[in-house]
Amino acid sequence: MKESSVSTGPDAVYLKYLGEGTAHLQRCEECAEFFFPPRVLCPHCASTSYKWSPISGKGTIYSSTFVSPAKEDGPGHSVLIVQLEEGPRLLGTSPDVTAADGKIGEKVRAVIEPFQSGSRLSFRIDES
Ligand SMILES: [Zn+2]
Repeated sequence: MKESSVSTGPDAVYLKYLGEGTAHLQRCEECAEFFFPPRVLCPHCASTSYKWSPISGKGTIYSSTFVSPAKEDGPGHSVLIVQLEEGPRLLGTSPDVTAADGKIGEKVRAVIEPFQSGSRLSFRIDES
């Protein structure tokens, strides 16, 4: 059986940084905008010149929903869209958001947590 190919594109670089415990996004070297999801050219000006820059992880909850499975399947989980200070919106989860309160507009801060065989972003309400 042939081994599946391993991505070496921008998505793989994003995940590599997460695996190392830091969140980086691409930032265009022409117009200076951050962008996400990872891609090979800037969605603002179409430049192919970018560098990976660390982000603060700070943002506000733009949208949220709560997935409530059947009781026997566990407690459920939130799915958020977070507006980052740097501009892009990211998808993530949060243990601080439940079905009862979507917390739209609340300040949050990203933490990196293990997920399956890699890492993912989770957001905590930022009390600072
Ligand atoms: Zn650009």
